[in-house]
Amino acid sequence: MAKYTGPVCRLCRREGEKLFLKGSRCYTPKCGFEKRGYAPGQHGKTKQGRSERESDYARQLRAKQRARRVYGVLERQFRRSFGIALRTRGMTGLNLLQTLEMRLDNTIYRLGLAENRAQARQLVNHGHFVVNGRRADIPSMLLKPGDAIATTDAAKKLTYFKQLPDFAEKRPCAIWMDRDLKNLSGRVLRLPERAEIDGSLNEQLIVEYYSR
Ligand code: SF4
Repeated sequence: MAKYTGPVCRLCRREGEKLFLKGSRCYTPKCGFEKRGYAPGQHGKTKQGRSERESDYARQLRAKQRARRVYGVLERQFRRSFGIALRTRGMTGLNLLQTLEMRLDNTIYRLGLAENRAQARQLVNHGHFVVNGRRADIPSMLLKPGDAIATTDAAKKLTYFKQLPDFAEKRPCAIWMDRDLKNLSGRVLRLPERAEIDGSLNEQLIVEYYSR
């Protein structure tokens, strides 16, 4: 599956705010946004990369791009998630966010088994996890309440996973998930409610973007 391979901090600078895409580094002075808090590109410094008066379209586009970058998915995958949200009963915006939250790479990150979503995606790609006892190496795989995630026996022998409980202990686990750090496993208890998802995402603008 395709993924963004360009400079990560550039994405924060484009959105004009810290998106915390790198994990612990984001909280240090090494943060790219702290060092260069202006938009990327030739005119980023002078115009801050955007006009003073944003059009509706610009606001909708930025909301969509921001969410896409937070979850680390490309346009095609994001549109696919929106299609799933449209076909699901209920509020499309909330459905979209829940669909993104239930991606396997996101749940690994939410369990605290990875420092950021990009790392979670890589761990999944390398086949280190099973879902309900079956090998799961597709980051975009959608989980559902009740699904159990476990680390493979082979992965548990790797240095990263041996040291993981110490690191993961300091990371929060999503309230809608249950984790067992001793066994490096977890379970999806239920769908997250809106208040339990990143409040800075504006799903309404994203729905408007795709409804034009
Ligand atoms: Fe964004 Fe983190 Fe890079 Fe800072 S260090 S610019 S928050 S990805």
